[in-house]
Amino acid sequence: MQTSRAVSRRRLFQSGAVLAGAALGSRLPGAEALEGPPPRGLDALAKDLHGRLIRPDEPGFLVAAWPNNGRWADVYPLAIAMCVDDHDVRACIDWARQERRPFAVRCGGHNYAGFSTTPGLLIDVKPMSGIAFDAKNGLVTIGAGANNQDMADAFRASGLAVASGRCPTVGISGLTLGGGWGFSATRYGLTCDALRATDAVTADGRLRHATARAGEDDHLFWAARGGGGGNFAVHTAFTFAVHEAHDVTVFNIVWPAKQQVELMLDLQEIQLKHPELISTRSKMAPEQAGKVTRGALHVQTLGQFFGPPAQLRELLAKPLGRVAPTICEINGMNYWAARDYLVTDDPTGLYDIRSSYVAGQLSGRGLERMIGWMEQWPGGSLRQDNMGILFAAGGKVKAVGPTDTAYVHRRSDFIVEMEASWSPLDTPQVVERQQRWLTDYFADMQEFVQKESYVNFPSRDLPNWLAAYYGENVARLQKIKLGYDPDDIFKFPQSIPLPGAPQ
Ligand SMILES: Cc1cc2nc3c(=O)[nH]c(=O)nc-3n(C[C@H](O)[C@H](O)[C@H](O)COP(=O)(O)OP(=O)(O)OC[C@H]3O[C@@H](n4cnc5c(N)ncnc54)[C@H](O)[C@@H]3O)c2cc1C
Repeated sequence: MQTSRAVSRRRLFQSGAVLAGAALGSRLPGAEALEGPPPRGLDALAKDLHGRLIRPDEPGFLVAAWPNNGRWADVYPLAIAMCVDDHDVRACIDWARQERRPFAVRCGGHNYAGFSTTPGLLIDVKPMSGIAFDAKNGLVTIGAGANNQDMADAFRASGLAVASGRCPTVGISGLTLGGGWGFSATRYGLTCDALRATDAVTADGRLRHATARAGEDDHLFWAARGGGGGNFAVHTAFTFAVHEAHDVTVFNIVWPAKQQVELMLDLQEIQLKHPELISTRSKMAPEQAGKVTRGALHVQTLGQFFGPPAQLRELLAKPLGRVAPTICEINGMNYWAARDYLVTDDPTGLYDIRSSYVAGQLSGRGLERMIGWMEQWPGGSLRQDNMGILFAAGGKVKAVGPTDTAYVHRRSDFIVEMEASWSPLDTPQVVERQQRWLTDYFADMQEFVQKESYVNFPSRDLPNWLAAYYGENVARLQKIKLGYDPDDIFKFPQSIPLPGAPQ
């Protein structure tokens, strides 16, 4: 199985479609202006690259620069290097060092907090999206620019899979480097758990082949499994172990606005009792835009079950018997059809997010508190679909120890997501009220959650972010940072600091 292709036009077009909506609400703290004259060396870099260097006055620049979260779309790069191979990545790193220019690395561009935007050089790995399966060792090597859709397309006919995420355009780089949650995580582990090797260009311009074996850049390999993107190197390829793709049952069940707390407790109980058999994403969400009230707050669970539909119906008997659902889709299908069913929309827009982890259940009191905060949402133009979500993250994810990989959150059973989103219709005052609401909501929920956050759901306003993302792995990550990037050139507002550096 081998696919290799240039960056998808559809993918670029999709992100371009939101350009029209980019107005009010995008200029927020964090937007950076380009300062100083353009460096002299861009021509030299353009000549050196095998791929294309896109400059601001060239066709496609704005579309290529556009990040998933439009909040950061007004951070214009000096130029975008579309890297087609290791040579291009090395040329970019060398150029940035010589010119003393900042840079950011981008794969899918989905970082919520804009960490793949920069006023300097944008090093885009998207063109490196080849996928090659090695029948001899049963491993698959995926170019660092591939996304979830590329993987689905390449794997579909093979009967094999690597556990990955829901959003078709999320990049394999960001997904893996931060952990990688998906509907197969509780059964097969996170995406980073399947990683067996990675190629990466470090700050000294060297291409490394990192594995778990001592002496083979094993510390860099350890950090690549949850240490977060953009911190140590530009990865050019990832090699994964695969699992067999068996038939599954998918489900999407929506309950009307009744007994929300009881239903959410039922769903968590089922997940906790059968972590490797079922994988749920359960949430409470308003039925329409406008004021959020308990009387119009439905419960939804979406997910995958590793068994036949009849067995799932039995497992879900308690919540199905408690309140009659308004939607109840339960269907057996093959793994890849299930993946297509579970795929998320590719939302573009303006948003901020907080995440936490829960060990065991988010209690009834915690859920009541959540509903209370939903009802206090200050208003805006959009229906808030992601105000309070629980992603199942126990089972196989917990089979790995907290310090075995850089992904530290191995004692938890759920990731909690809290989000506020807005559109260009909303005034800066409305946006500010929503952000304050999110900050207060998150702070008030701390009583019920672990003091941890998922680095792939980042926010610039997250307090104590270093400890929240990395817990007891912080010191080791800082030591690795010192070893591979002593001049701290891989730098962004939440990059891993050198030991002793202020945060
Ligand atoms: C719509 C949507 C759905 C999502 N669904 C899921 C989900 O189901 N499961 C889940 O776990 N997460 C999910 N996420 C979060 C997602 O995993 C993270 O945002 C992830 O980091 C995005 O990776 P990316 O390559 O697309 O983004 P980018 O913004 O390109 O990269 C993310 C970070 O990694 C760095 N980076 C990118 N490429 C490289 C590289 N080659 N080498 C080194 N550093 C690099 C960037 O500098 C940045 O800091 C979702 C996000 C969105 C917007």
